[in-house]
Amino acid sequence: MMCSLWRGFSLPLTTSLNRRFLKCCRQLSRSYNIESCIPEAVAFQGVSDHSGLYKFSVNESDRFWGAVARQRLSWISPFHTVQNCDFSQGKIKWFEGGKLNVSVNCLDRHVHTSPERVALIWERDEPGTEVKITYRQLLELTCRLGNLLKRQGVRRGDCVTIYMPPCPLAVASMLACARIGAAHNVVFAGFSSEALADRIRDAQSSTVITVNQGVRGGKVVDLKRTVDQAVQNCPSVQQVLVAMRTENTVAMTDRDVPLEEEMMKEDVVCEPVAMDSEDVLFLLYTSGSTGKPKGLVHTQAGYLLYTALTHRYVFNYHDRDVFGCVADIGWITGHSYIVYGPLCNGGTTVLFESTPVYPNPGRYWEMVERLGINQFYGAPTAIRLLLKYGDEWVQNYNRSSLKTLGSVGEPINTEAWEWYHRVVGDGRCPVVDTWWQTETGGICIAPRPSDPEAEIVPGMAMRPFYGIKPALLDTEGEVLSSNDSTGALCISQAWPGMARTIHNHHQRFTETYFQPYPGYFFTGDGAYRSKEGYYQIVGRLDDVINVSGHRLGTAELEDVVNQCPGVAESAAIGYSHDIKGEGVYVFVVLKKAVMVQEDVLAQQLREMVSRSIAKYACPDFIQVVRCLPKTRSGKIMRRVLRKVVERNTDELGDLSTLDDPDSVHEVIRGHQRLRGDGKQQ
Ligand code: AMP
Repeated sequence: MMCSLWRGFSLPLTTSLNRRFLKCCRQLSRSYNIESCIPEAVAFQGVSDHSGLYKFSVNESDRFWGAVARQRLSWISPFHTVQNCDFSQGKIKWFEGGKLNVSVNCLDRHVHTSPERVALIWERDEPGTEVKITYRQLLELTCRLGNLLKRQGVRRGDCVTIYMPPCPLAVASMLACARIGAAHNVVFAGFSSEALADRIRDAQSSTVITVNQGVRGGKVVDLKRTVDQAVQNCPSVQQVLVAMRTENTVAMTDRDVPLEEEMMKEDVVCEPVAMDSEDVLFLLYTSGSTGKPKGLVHTQAGYLLYTALTHRYVFNYHDRDVFGCVADIGWITGHSYIVYGPLCNGGTTVLFESTPVYPNPGRYWEMVERLGINQFYGAPTAIRLLLKYGDEWVQNYNRSSLKTLGSVGEPINTEAWEWYHRVVGDGRCPVVDTWWQTETGGICIAPRPSDPEAEIVPGMAMRPFYGIKPALLDTEGEVLSSNDSTGALCISQAWPGMARTIHNHHQRFTETYFQPYPGYFFTGDGAYRSKEGYYQIVGRLDDVINVSGHRLGTAELEDVVNQCPGVAESAAIGYSHDIKGEGVYVFVVLKKAVMVQEDVLAQQLREMVSRSIAKYACPDFIQVVRCLPKTRSGKIMRRVLRKVVERNTDELGDLSTLDDPDSVHEVIRGHQRLRGDGKQQ
């Protein structure tokens, strides 16, 4: 039976458009006043426009962040030190001495002023069945859940794993953790039981929160069953709280707690714990260039402030706007721009449970019309997919509510950008290509905020946010000071939203982010700075593939492939893919004397990858080779493999260091056979 809680709340541009857009910008710019936009600027001497404010934010970082933190967060006790950071030790501390509660900032203070304002619009899988939750209701849910967690023995400093699709109880679970001082570890509900188990074990969670089943694209997914499999190998887990998303019963064990039933027994008041600014708010696992995902740690005040500020100014969010971020809460985008940023700002935020093509490719725009969405924030992979279905799916719906369009997760190619701007936004909404990552906590480079008439160049993230000072470094570690140059994208001073460490691996944190370029935070991405000084991200410099905006470490994938019976070794390579941005191509060397048909092997490998990581990590191509091209010292020549899969065999470069140059020709021939295209471009 479906529990009452779920039901209870049933509760480059065309010319004429271009001209109109520019006129509107000019009018705006005439009346533009930085203080009406950012009131704190009154106290910043000499600041009268956006670029003045940006300079102030990086040159007078303490004053900028101190003023903004005092103004925008509700503190239980004030902080005494704005920042205490030292990149050489990977030490990042903001607002020390301050005490606050994140859930109070996201809920209670809005309940005092506007209890009936809608906090969440849960856009369920079936169009037209959305559920609205007010701030008062969300606080109530959060408090009941907080009390239930305490009853189940969860204490300040514990870490609760949440394996749920986007839904109000998932948000309430996150906020309930914040309320009682526990950290959360949200795992994307598309991850397999093994990937979930790894993350539960690393986080040492005693409590997992899940749903009986998920519903997505008209299909039911047995999430509880995945949790059951995962916790078999997680000795730390003592209880699993199970919410009922569908009416179907699932087998419950002694360890399982029916969430709605038990939380209804709890009080609607739950005293918020006073947390230190630098206490852990959450862990979020992401892929790196080694085999093991890393649990990045974000803390309370700095993270909350940074997400709130970026949410307001990058998207030009105003009170009463409806913010529609269609990411999943299991990724950092969901944490920062579905939950914490919008709720800290007292906003109305959409939780999207479905897919861009369910029940048809007009889903997003039908939803925009029905919910009156003002800011739409999505991924290039979905935009590329939808543009292939044609303009009618967009034009069938009224999108006049839209004010800003956002893009996140991967580079947006010009064709997709233009379509998004021209067709979806009718040429009148700024498109903000936002660059950031799990490590940065919030958006670091985006076309807005800027002076209102400032140009936006398609496919470029362009301008650093307040307090962000990017730098490009060359392979020698020298700073590239002139424009029109490409290098490793680094950030040269701390900002409040940045991750603080890797859970239990501080050394890995410093080695990965601060040692490659001493004195700088290294993002792992390469970037181009144009003649005008705008930034454009060119992609990862490490062995991380970006599949539909999801990060996948090649080493992580190879670990799984190498465990397949018969496989001696493998190399996973990313290649450009029309829709997904990057696809996965795997080269496999079989153990001696192993005979297996390639399609059987491919099927086995795909099953293993989907069981061990997630479906999105499944290779598109699997090529069996006799041996991999290696240097004489035994290192796989990924550069060469990359050229082969990108069909750039004319540019293989120097092969003289290869142990067995013939292996490359074999690889090329096999690749031509597999992709059915003998022509090398
Ligand atoms: P994640 O931490 O999973 O959100 O992945 C972050 C990575 O996605 C970044 O390091 C980039 O490689 C890529 N990325 C995110 N946003 C953009 C963007 N706007 N343009 C280009 N790449 C992006």
